[in-house]
Amino acid sequence: MQTRLSAEFLDTPDGREADGILRKCVHCGFCAATCPTYQLLGDELDGPRGRIYLIKEMLEGAEPSRATQLHLDRCLTCRACETTCPSGVSYGRLLDIGRHHIERVVPRTLRERVLRRAILATVPHRNRFARLMAVGRALRWLMPPSLRRSVPIVRPSGVWPAPRHERRMLVLTGCVQPVVAPAINAAAARVLDRLGVSLVAVDDECCGALAHHLSQEERSRRQMRRNIDAWWPQIERGAEALIVTASGCGAMVSDYGGLLRHDPAYARKAARISGLFRDIGDAVTRELARPGVTLHLKAPREGGPRVAFHSPCTLQHGLKIRGVIEPLLKRAGYTLTSVADGHLCCGSAGSYSFLQPAISRQLKANKLAALEAGGPDLIATANIGCLLHLASGGERPVRHWIELLDRALVS
Ligand code: SF4
Ligand code: SF4
Repeated sequence: MQTRLSAEFLDTPDGREADGILRKCVHCGFCAATCPTYQLLGDELDGPRGRIYLIKEMLEGAEPSRATQLHLDRCLTCRACETTCPSGVSYGRLLDIGRHHIERVVPRTLRERVLRRAILATVPHRNRFARLMAVGRALRWLMPPSLRRSVPIVRPSGVWPAPRHERRMLVLTGCVQPVVAPAINAAAARVLDRLGVSLVAVDDECCGALAHHLSQEERSRRQMRRNIDAWWPQIERGAEALIVTASGCGAMVSDYGGLLRHDPAYARKAARISGLFRDIGDAVTRELARPGVTLHLKAPREGGPRVAFHSPCTLQHGLKIRGVIEPLLKRAGYTLTSVADGHLCCGSAGSYSFLQPAISRQLKANKLAALEAGGPDLIATANIGCLLHLASGGERPVRHWIELLDRALVS
């Protein structure tokens, strides 16, 4: 694609990066075939190619409008289009640049400003979010069933093994997951303990993804820097990896190096963090590939639990991790049911379910229908956002896959 970016952008690192991305796009439109918003809304401007044009026009100097902002807001940042694109267009990065610019020049309505501020003031703050959830639980009995399912019951975590191995890995605690599903990281700690690795948690905070996707870059950078400071002493003491059990946060942490590359005080450390990042599925698979390492699992039962696996977009399109979790679940005796359109987003997408509720609800209904078609006993996934979103819409239990692997360990 030919570009004529205005000097205002071409003189900046973001502008030069956007120019390089835009020039890779050959307008073929293949990406539209896998775009969930294009499929639902049928408007070219609600598909990747249309959004790329809108961003190009804007960076070439055209005045962006509210309509442009809406088409960019409706993007889920699922990055299914990146997986499909034959030219290797980094759409997600281009969208970040476009959204960041439009946020500065197109004012938001009062309702949008209030909603965005409310999300940022609660969700990424563990203690505030915990208080909000406590109020929700106290009022649960007053709620209609549909709303009640949005306030999850916290399941017991079980024992976090005491550190006993020489090999240690850090784990991201984060913001939402420890409040609503602390059992996930505890399960990861037990599985890794059996594999000869002690998992260590420190007092970190939100990975910064929520603020980043709401174009609050400075707030997001502050969270990243604070996390690096929290993790660094453990890294200096020899922690081998930084494990993340929520793929949404994992996609963010894997990008710390890129996002802080212009920060003279943190660029080097951020790049090291990205290098140490490991998704829990990848970590377990790597450990099992070591000579002599195995997991002692209960003998698989004929007709064992049937599981529908939902691979989050951040796992399959963001981190490009595909076909890793399914073999682990099969090894643990679960029968995987087939799921149509596994590449499509469930509609959770960070704060999207609050900001674009109608599209989000439709995508959730479609995803649940696909997951439930094979008659599973339960649904497994790899990201807390997808887990909560799907659990709020269906009758079947939704769990993180590492909890299912942990359940299968011989006690
Ligand atoms: S990120 Fe997802 S929703 Fe956005 S344009 Fe790409 S495929 Fe469509
Ligand atoms: S598939 Fe890639 S090259 Fe083709 S229009 Fe989409 S982004 Fe551009």
